[in-house]
Amino acid sequence: MNESLSLAPLRLKKDEERRLRAGHLWVYSNEVDTRATPLKDFQPGQQVQLLGHNGKVLGNGYVNPNSLICARLVSRDPAHVLDRSLLVHRMNVALALRERLFDTPHYRLVYGESDQLPGLVIDRYGEVCVVQCTTAGMEAVKAQVLEALDKVLQPQGVVLRADSAVRQLEGLDAYQETTGSVPDSVTVEESGLNFSVSLQQGQKTGWFYDQRMNRARLRNYVSGRRVLDVFSYVGGWGVQAAAGGAAEVMCVDSSSAAIDRIHANAAANGFSEKLATVQGDAFEVLGQLRADQEKFDVVVLDPPAFIKRRKDIKAGEQAYHRLNQLGMQVLAKDGILVSASCSHHLAEAQFQRILLQSSRHLDRSLQLLERGHQAPDHPVHPAIPETDYLKALFCRVLPS
Ligand code: SAH
Repeated sequence: MNESLSLAPLRLKKDEERRLRAGHLWVYSNEVDTRATPLKDFQPGQQVQLLGHNGKVLGNGYVNPNSLICARLVSRDPAHVLDRSLLVHRMNVALALRERLFDTPHYRLVYGESDQLPGLVIDRYGEVCVVQCTTAGMEAVKAQVLEALDKVLQPQGVVLRADSAVRQLEGLDAYQETTGSVPDSVTVEESGLNFSVSLQQGQKTGWFYDQRMNRARLRNYVSGRRVLDVFSYVGGWGVQAAAGGAAEVMCVDSSSAAIDRIHANAAANGFSEKLATVQGDAFEVLGQLRADQEKFDVVVLDPPAFIKRRKDIKAGEQAYHRLNQLGMQVLAKDGILVSASCSHHLAEAQFQRILLQSSRHLDRSLQLLERGHQAPDHPVHPAIPETDYLKALFCRVLPS
């Protein structure tokens, strides 16, 4: 039986199908013809057939009447519903890209909408995977997601990290579950180095694969230099800098668990002697380093997103401004600043403007050397700006 025949319709208002036709996958609640298909008639996560105002089928998706993004398109082919078979197919397509890109099985396997799996993120750590379902529609097929993953990869263990803040927007609760066998620590290989991370206790899914290419780039700038890695987490940038020949590396993070791992990761790669850590608030530590007139040849600033929602834009931009100014103040003459932002609400041009303003405020001049973005295991969906979030600007900071 063709299951899609049994899907309830969700009809859009006149002209509101244009964005979907242009490639987007989301429907906002004000775009639904609620007289024809009242949103309150749907269960959160229910699968539907999306119809244009004229009744033409746009494809299949799922609904959440309680969310501003009230529906997401899953397939433009009306014969395909979100079931195990479609999940297996999409995961295989996603896997083919990652296998082409990377020699070792450490990567983001599925990146939501960009891999045509709205609301699903899967990170692979060799034999173990971390799964995040961020929408009611994906949560509703959680069991099929796990079955599909088992068919595609046969992981030895899976951690379901249902603790990301975006789940609240969908009215979903927070929890963490484990299936199979998941060790306390797993090892990630990146650019020839090994990092140990905790999948259950670590930040987000345990490791930030998105910065991989940018960390590799850093190695070109550090030979013989003194490097500061701020918001260092488990030492992703700092240990790469040590491997790139840095004379000395200092990592700063507020989390004591992260600091412990940095030491373990430095030791595992043979760089304990050149790597020091400071536990504390980044802004305070930078202020203290400035007061002590400490100077670094390379400063990396890779903070958590300061702008999570549109209404945080102003305060967030100020935080980026303050942070980058502090970063520049501890840079030696002719220093390199690597400044990142993972806030998708902060456009690259605006981020660049903030760096320029920070440099002018200190009477320095800036050369923009390289612009890094998220690694290709986080593909950008060209119709969905939210999927394009990471900026890493490599700048040379000179006296004016
Ligand atoms: N640079 C890291 C990722 C950073 S994640 C990497 O490439 O892997 C953000 C990190 O910032 C976390 O480890 C968190 O503990 C730390 N953090 C958050 N707020 C902080 C603050 N105010 N001061 C210092 N560290 C902070």
